[in-house]
This record gives sequence, structure tokens and C-alpha cells, in this order.
Amino acid sequence: MSKTVVALHEMRSPLPIPAARAGLHAALADTRGRALRDLRISVTDRCNFRCVYCMPREVFDADYAFLPHEQLLSFEEIVRLARVFRAQGMEKVRLTGGEPLLRKDIDRLVAMLREALPGVDLTLTTNGSALRAHARALAAAGLDRLTVSLDSLDEATFRAMNDADFPVAKVLGAIDAAAAAGLAPIKVNMVVKRGVNDHQVVDMARHFRGSGHIVRFIEYMDVGSTNGWRMDDVVPSAEVVRRIGERFPLEPVDAGYSGEVAERWRYADGSGEIGVISSVTRAFCATCTRARLSTDGQLYTCLFAQRGYDLKSLVRRGASDEELAQAIRGIWQGRADRYSEIRTAATAASRKVEMSFIGG
Ligand code: SAM
Repeated sequence: MSKTVVALHEMRSPLPIPAARAGLHAALADTRGRALRDLRISVTDRCNFRCVYCMPREVFDADYAFLPHEQLLSFEEIVRLARVFRAQGMEKVRLTGGEPLLRKDIDRLVAMLREALPGVDLTLTTNGSALRAHARALAAAGLDRLTVSLDSLDEATFRAMNDADFPVAKVLGAIDAAAAAGLAPIKVNMVVKRGVNDHQVVDMARHFRGSGHIVRFIEYMDVGSTNGWRMDDVVPSAEVVRRIGERFPLEPVDAGYSGEVAERWRYADGSGEIGVISSVTRAFCATCTRARLSTDGQLYTCLFAQRGYDLKSLVRRGASDEELAQAIRGIWQGRADRYSEIRTAATAASRKVEMSFIGG
């Protein structure tokens, strides 16, 4: 695993302790004035798919060393850290991975977070493979919303992209099951890679038009260091919007809230909306309010980070909530990340943490 974890005891707190204490509930901002609003929690580094752009089979093969169970944050540790993040202004939690529905008793974690974090927007991103079986329990546990990844409606294309021979129909069935369980409208993530699935963009829009669900077309990114990313593989969101708009006229919609990652467009005939996420061609670093907690409890302040901060060791060494809060504040206040603004072919080739580990 390509990561350098910085032990917190080696870091110097930028705040004297009394100021940190006094500021516990004050607005927290990084070096660019960005608040900490969203927390993505990777609950497992394992996945049953081998999406070619995320966990290519040549790397994540039978010999790949996934984390042993004792290194994973327990549910109690996750909930405790989430509470501390909440006290720093965090408003939204997304459970992800790896494939979060592979984590045993994930519904119980959702229920625990729901109870501990009233008012927090609680969401989850899944490949949908196990969603049919979990949908009702997730809804009953208090999950607010759901994102399902689906890269193509074309059987051969989808199976080639997930590289696990998983059929489209099962994901579509799972989306229906989740909607029936009360989790609609559902966001459907499609990563668009040129020459691989971009011929499916209009079909995808057509399929979900009028369903109430929202397809979000994501630019293929250079996360991690295993997917062999090249700029030529990226289909700019502007092209996606143009292609869909030529078939189904679109008009822009104002952002739902400040810092919204997806740029929203609605069908002029009122049959719903789509989103485009342009991390490569229109970087949104300036409004990025996301922190990421990896499967083994490292805090990452950017999806493209090369290092994390070891919160798990602090927790397991018996740190108090106040000490955890102080550590998180210190890390966030020192945050200067703006990777997508400075991306070049050279940075793309640098070693970064894998998305399956840090959480997508
Ligand atoms: N297993 C779950 C899933 O498939 O949704 C959650 C984890 S997955 C890493 C989260 C999201 O990241 C998925 O929608 C996936 O398509 C997206 N993703 C992974 N690698 C990506 C890349 N290189 N560029 C853009 N999106 C990517």
C-alpha cells in the first residue's frame, strides 16, 4: 500500500492547548478558509468488483494483502471519531470503501451513527451488488440517502469494467429495491472513460430520465497509482453535457448548497436532472470541505493525498475526546491541499493512496 502515515505524536500542534480547548466549537477553517463539513468513512478496503479504473485485477489479485480485521476501526471507534468530527462542524457522513456492504453488520453501524449523530446527513455509496438484500435494513437503520455506481447499461461493457462478470440487471434491480425501501431518489454514479463506456452516456441519461433518480457523470480521475490514468482517457463534463443536451435539451440548475461537487443540469421538459462531476477539467478544490477516514483510521485531507494522519493510534492509546478534537483541528487548520488545481502528467504519475483504501 502506497501510503505514508504520519504519527500524530510527531506533529507539532499549531495551537496552544488552551486555545484549542476554547475553540472546540468555533468554526474550523483550513489555510484556505475551507470548513470541515463532510466526512467520508471507508469501512473496508475489500471489494467484490475489480473495476479496471479503481482496483485493477493485476494489482488487487489473490496475493494482495488487504488489511487484517484487527487493523480496521471498530464500529465503536468509528462512531466515537464521527462524534468528535461532528463537534468540529461536520454535517454529512458518507460510508464507502472498498464495498461498504461487504462489511459485516453494516446496518448496525448505520443505526449506531444515526443514534449518535442526530441531524447529520447519513449516506452510503455502493456498487449495488449486495444492495437488494440490505436495502430495507439500511432504510430502517436510518440511512438518509444512497448512491449506486453503475458505469454502463450495456452488458458487455459493464462486465468488462467491473471485471467480476457482474450483470447490469442485478444493479438495476437493486436500485428498484432501494427505492421501494424508501431510499429514493437515488444517485447513480457513472465514471466516464473515453473509448470504454463514453458511448453509453446518452443511453444512461435516457434510461433514468423520468425515474426520479439522478445520474452523475464523473470524470475519470488519477486517484491512486495503479490505474494508468492518462488525460486522453478523460471525457470532459462539457462534452457529456453537450452530447446529452443534443438529444434531450438541458438547462443549468443552481447549486443546492455551497460546495456542492456536482454541477446540476435539468431536462427542459421537466423529466428530471443529471449532475456532472468535473474534478479534472473544473477543479473544485476551492470549495472542498471533505475529510476522509481510511479503513484503518488514518485521516486524509484530500482524495489525492500521499499521506494520512494516524487517528487510530491516538484512539487506541486512550486519547480523550478533547485530545482527538485537538488533533483533528490541528490537521485541518494546516490543510493546504488543492491537488486538482495543480494536476499535471507528472503529478498524476506520483504515488497516491488508493481510492479503495481511502474511500471514494
Ligand atoms: N464500492 C463502492 C462503489 O462502487 O460505489 C464505493 C467505493 S468506490 C471507490 C466509490 C466511487 O468512486 C464509485 O462511484 C467509483 O466509480 C468511483 N471511482 C473509483 N475510481 C475512480 C476514478 N479513477 N475516477 C473517478 N471515479 C472513480
